[in-house]
Amino acid sequence: MPYYCDLSPGQKIYLDNSGPNTVITLASGEAGQQQQSSTQVRTGPWTEVPQITRVGGGVLLRCVTVQGIFVWQVQGTQIRAAPATAWAADQATPMQATEVEPPIASMPPMPPMPPMQMGDMEMSLNPMTLRMREMTLGSNTPTVNTQKFCTQCGAAIAQSDRFCGSCGHQLS
Ligand SMILES: [Zn+2]
Repeated sequence: MPYYCDLSPGQKIYLDNSGPNTVITLASGEAGQQQQSSTQVRTGPWTEVPQITRVGGGVLLRCVTVQGIFVWQVQGTQIRAAPATAWAADQATPMQATEVEPPIASMPPMPPMPPMQMGDMEMSLNPMTLRMREMTLGSNTPTVNTQKFCTQCGAAIAQSDRFCGSCGHQLS
């Protein structure tokens, strides 16, 4: 069952325990212009009702699961893992259960996506990086026919030759 809390007028946060994962969904904006962002963390099943506490500039969320205690800080639209020591238990309130499913996030989830392969380029999001594979020019690459021939007599010549060993033609 999802839990939710109103962060501010027009901003709600939902917490759901879906299998071994905790799904945090942040919904903000007016009806019809809602923005959602959601993040999913492998926490294990909850053993307690998640709690929320307000801190300067945001809120802290805490889940107690079979794997331990997880704390997140929510600030604006950012959801970040926070150290358990950041938790201020004295001001915590349990989140409210809701039958309403959290809105489906229209944004891609925050955990990094597996890198997309596009030919020789590798692209990964979050952080946005674009990496070109090292150009495969080297002695261990299959030789792309680099054998040269004399333009005069057609004899095989070495790359470093300045004159043809067969006819003496000056090579460029
Ligand atoms: Zn020659």
